[in-house]
Amino acid sequence: MQIDVRPTTAPRPRPTGPLGFGTHFTDHVFHMDYVDGKGWNDARIEPYGPISLDPAASVLHYAQVVFEGMKAFKGADGAIRLFRPDAHAARLARSCQKLRIATVEPAHAVEAISRVVAQDADWVPDASTGGALYIRPFVYATEAFLGVRPAKAYTFSIILCPVGAYYERGFAPVRIWVEREKVRAVKGGVGDAKTAGNYAASLSAAADAKARGYDQVLWTDAHEHERIEEVGTMNLFVAFDDEIVTPPLEGTILGGITRDSVITLLKDRGENIVERNVTLTEVRQAQASGRLREVFGTGTAAVVSPVGVLGFEDGDLTVGDGKPGRLAVELHDELTAIQRGDRPDPHGWLRTV
Ligand SMILES: *Cc1c(COP(=O)(O)O)cnc(C)c1O
Repeated sequence: MQIDVRPTTAPRPRPTGPLGFGTHFTDHVFHMDYVDGKGWNDARIEPYGPISLDPAASVLHYAQVVFEGMKAFKGADGAIRLFRPDAHAARLARSCQKLRIATVEPAHAVEAISRVVAQDADWVPDASTGGALYIRPFVYATEAFLGVRPAKAYTFSIILCPVGAYYERGFAPVRIWVEREKVRAVKGGVGDAKTAGNYAASLSAAADAKARGYDQVLWTDAHEHERIEEVGTMNLFVAFDDEIVTPPLEGTILGGITRDSVITLLKDRGENIVERNVTLTEVRQAQASGRLREVFGTGTAAVVSPVGVLGFEDGDLTVGDGKPGRLAVELHDELTAIQRGDRPDPHGWLRTV
């Protein structure tokens, strides 16, 4: 792929103090345009800055936009490694297809990601900080047209943000509100695509949960509100005494790449990991009978996030002793060590930039 590189002549100020998440952006951005009949064209890396969009651009009206979230890590050896870029590029293509957006070839997406990360390599936080470079590829409809149909013009962009260690104040369990009224996705909808509308639709329940003193929402199925689906930006795992369960990919939840990686690591350990539906009743009964070992979420941002409390209308269910479970701690440490290049990578998940 031909990529035109126009390096910045005015480097952006480097962040001082804590990086946080998603507030600082690097010097460069990748863009590539699409128009029906011509295909993808004009791949370029240019200085980071505002874009111009026609006020009638269909993304602003009908939300034809999909995105990815992935990371690059700097190892103690100084090398920069992308974690599972092929899996992220393949998911981006699936999300595009679902929203009738012009598909970005996975090989082109991976190349564009590698090139823009290489351009801003000196923005990747050092291994010693525990930070990483968060990568946000996204594809959006730019055609100026108010009719309702798939647009004929799109842009694929990639922005990068250095982020701090997720657990700056220790590996803390989260408090999760079990949502049994509002719904994130239904079968036949777009719950399994990484698309902006799913997030817009989640904000009200998330804000209510915050107001009640919880960190995030656990979505349940749209019909009985009994089966566990996923948490805001994470997939969920429930460890019983004899099996570890995570809900199956049946169209309403996002197939997390961290979820897939954790399933693989659990299989490597010889654990009994099962993809099946799990109900709230089952979790509450397991808690009552002492069969509930731990609950944790998985996602690119936190990697593995222990759940300390599940909040119900009739009170809180404290998981175990409310402290991070052994599996969550071990899986978090194992996966982050692989990502940093501190452990072997038997599944070929890393790609050096
Ligand atoms: C991105 C996302 C996840 C986590 O996916 P990863 O690939 O593990 O980062 C889970 N749920 C939703 C709704 C998401 O958008």
